[in-house]
Amino acid sequence: MAAASRLEVRNLTRIFDGKTVVDDASFEVRAGEVACLLGPSGCGKSTTLRMIAGVDMQDSGQILVDGSVICGAGTRVPPERRGIGLMFQDFALFPHLSVADNVAFGLKGGARANRNRVAELLDQVHLTRHRDSYPHALSGGEQQRVALARALAPRPSIMLMDEPFSGLDERLRDGIRDETLAILKDAGAAVLLVTHEPHEAMRMADQILLMRDGRIVQRGAPYNIYNAPVDRAAAAFFSDIN
Ligand code: ADP
Ligand code: MG
Repeated sequence: MAAASRLEVRNLTRIFDGKTVVDDASFEVRAGEVACLLGPSGCGKSTTLRMIAGVDMQDSGQILVDGSVICGAGTRVPPERRGIGLMFQDFALFPHLSVADNVAFGLKGGARANRNRVAELLDQVHLTRHRDSYPHALSGGEQQRVALARALAPRPSIMLMDEPFSGLDERLRDGIRDETLAILKDAGAAVLLVTHEPHEAMRMADQILLMRDGRIVQRGAPYNIYNAPVDRAAAAFFSDIN
């Protein structure tokens, strides 16, 4: 079980070349909750995630974990000390490492020193029989599960996921979303998942953060947002849900 944490961003703003890409964004993700940062391509989702991960720096605003500032107001905790797990669209597995070694990558001592933890994770993502396989021999869905196990291995208290299903076969996605959600809930982390697909957010989120032009324009439970969109643009965005 991960140490439960609460993620909070306050008035987060990022400006590139004079253009405000993330505009005064404030939100909170509680421990054990899946929040979906949802919005069309280019609205500032990945930039928001990168600042929280610590690989980019906001121009103003703060990022807090359990009420303590980790970035902003003169403080900057380095990425590797933020207790954050990351998962991206392309999975970014190490091609020269076996499944077990990929999963153990973030663990001190590697797969050998962490036999039990690696076995537990592989069991959780149903990859035990692929323990010694290499990524190229796996299907897209299997690679996705290796990336998930690798991100969860150090028991992060916060998980950031950037479009983690978009590289997968459409027909498999809902099944993989449901499985991933169950594993995330079991891990207990505060999850911030970025997606441009309303259907995905409806299916996975406890809370939707609807983003447009860098701003959080609406937040709430999926059902509430779907039934009472804040404006015409939000309604149109949800209207093509499949
Ligand atoms: P999303 O993930 O919602 O598709 P991004 O956060 O990737 O959106 O990008 C938001 C906007 O910021 C886009 O217009 C993008 O071109 C711009 N942008 C992102 N990163 C940079 C950067 N490093 N330099 C300049 N512009 C950037
Ligand atoms: Mg993006």
